[in-house]
Amino acid sequence: MERCRSRRQGRRRLILFAALCLLVLFGLMAFQALAFSQTRVPRCTEKDIEEAKSLASSAKLKISIAKEVFSETHPEGTVVSQEPAGGSRVRKGSLVKVVVSKGPRPIKVEPVALEAGKDMSPETVSETTSTPEERPSTPVLSTPVAPPPSTDSTSTGTSVTTPPTAGGKVVCIDPGHQARANLGREPIGPGSSQTKEKCRGGATGVSSGTPEYKLTLEIGLKLRALLEKKGITVVMTRETNDVDISNIERAEIANEAGAHLFVRIHHNGSSNLSLGGACTLYPADGSWTAPIYASSRRAAQLIQRELVKSTGLKNNSIFARSDITGFNWSKVPAVLTEIGFLSNPEEDRLLNTGEFQDKAAQGLFNGIVEYLNET
Ligand SMILES: [Zn+2]
Repeated sequence: MERCRSRRQGRRRLILFAALCLLVLFGLMAFQALAFSQTRVPRCTEKDIEEAKSLASSAKLKISIAKEVFSETHPEGTVVSQEPAGGSRVRKGSLVKVVVSKGPRPIKVEPVALEAGKDMSPETVSETTSTPEERPSTPVLSTPVAPPPSTDSTSTGTSVTTPPTAGGKVVCIDPGHQARANLGREPIGPGSSQTKEKCRGGATGVSSGTPEYKLTLEIGLKLRALLEKKGITVVMTRETNDVDISNIERAEIANEAGAHLFVRIHHNGSSNLSLGGACTLYPADGSWTAPIYASSRRAAQLIQRELVKSTGLKNNSIFARSDITGFNWSKVPAVLTEIGFLSNPEEDRLLNTGEFQDKAAQGLFNGIVEYLNET
């Protein structure tokens, strides 16, 4: 009896042990199967779509372009966002949906006839005060463009200061910034309680260390030479770097000169060193600048087009701005060009060469002359 019971107990233990072993084995197999079927999603944002596709393929995932959007911050073909996020774990073969940039919104320059009195203000304009004097904020919608208005009135009938110098044309050139910034404040527009610095310090070449004010003057003087050769009268807001002229004072110089166009020269800067290209700003259709809105916009379109053509810089479009002191005090059509990024090593190098400065001045000149011929 005793021997028989112990043999039975031994057999039961063996069966139990075998069952336990099987359970552990199945558990291990299931865990392995799960682990091998999963993969980590690569970080695709800020990357080129082709690079994103290759990363996804290495992770055994598929990429699907969910949407293409205009972007001022992401170059064309760059991933703006993704779903699921980089770093998360998903099953192999899953789909990663990405939103890809189409680059900046394009500008249309072909004049299209509009009915008189029709609303010509499609822009939504940012009122942020933290934006630097020369930084773009809101892209312009690509809508048909109004024919250029005559010099004495816009299509809405608002009067524009008529330049006193009959016969010859007058251009006021404002080379941006000065050797010493003036951080005293002044109202951003006539009667405004909102203030901004009188003259901010500009950008600095990331490799060259060249200050923006030096380059804007060099290009400004080259532009003056081209315009004067064409018989156009030029008024400079400054001819040296050692000056102290606020943005209001710069606009008033253009007003007093009765300029047909007030051209402000700047160079951009960004913490993102890969950003590059040119953009042109013009006054928004606001209460201070409504009379110069349409003509300024037209000048911005022509100057931006010619500047990009002449320099080969990337076209970062034109922007309407309501927060720029030098625009809001101007009674004459005004534009502000951002010729390249001093934070971009290659554009910094180019801007420091006389050859590239000549191309920039020539581009500005071509656009200005085209604008003056239309007015
Ligand atoms: Zn500037």
